[in-house]
Amino acid sequence: MNLIFLGAPGAGKGTHAEILSREIHIPQISTGNMIREALKSGTEMGLKAKAYIEAGNLVPDEVVIGIIRERLNRDDCKNGFILDGFPRTIPQAEALDKMIRIDRVIDIEVPESLILRRLSGRRVCGSCGASYNIHTRKPKVEGVCDTCGGTLVQRKDDQPETVKARLKVYHEQTEPLTGYYKKQGKLRTVHGSDDTAATHRDILNAVEA
Ligand code: ADP
Ligand code: ZN
Repeated sequence: MNLIFLGAPGAGKGTHAEILSREIHIPQISTGNMIREALKSGTEMGLKAKAYIEAGNLVPDEVVIGIIRERLNRDDCKNGFILDGFPRTIPQAEALDKMIRIDRVIDIEVPESLILRRLSGRRVCGSCGASYNIHTRKPKVEGVCDTCGGTLVQRKDDQPETVKARLKVYHEQTEPLTGYYKKQGKLRTVHGSDDTAATHRDILNAVEA
């Protein structure tokens, strides 16, 4: 299964891609996590991406398209993958269609009021990238990652001003992708609530339908 998860920042793409990835044994490919990794290790690409990310803007298409092309060529993608955070623009979707066949696109829809609460409460593991929320999805021990024991931090781009910019970018550049994939007959919409288990079941149904 070659899958795409679409949705606004904070819709739960990363959380649900991670759960599904473990369950059906195909890799989760998160461009956001890959770019943050590059940033941390100070690669040339990471340095280029820094200013865009911190302003809440998208990294240029050619940069992320290059990252994805390389990643999809790796062996672990042979039996499928879940793209989380890519594509985010129409040119990215067009480039992807030239690389590989996509089976299904899951759009996770969440009301904006919930999105704002989620992003402000989000904490991520500095080591493995796993995502938590101080209101709704608490780790077992405050500030510590359940999976790897790493320290939980707030992302710079989850601060209020940057969140506003990211939502604007989402509406202008990413939302049109739902129409793009609807035309191809691949789009399935799921309502993302705070009940992670229920949303996960809806996603499984949408993947299998
Ligand atoms: P979220 O989905 O919560 O906004 P991500 O972790 O997916 O966050 O991405 C964080 C940032 O990384 C984005 O705001 C953007 O700057 C950059 N980024 C991630 N994926 C892409 C992409 N496909 N195209 C352009 N920029 C991207
Ligand atoms: Zn961790």
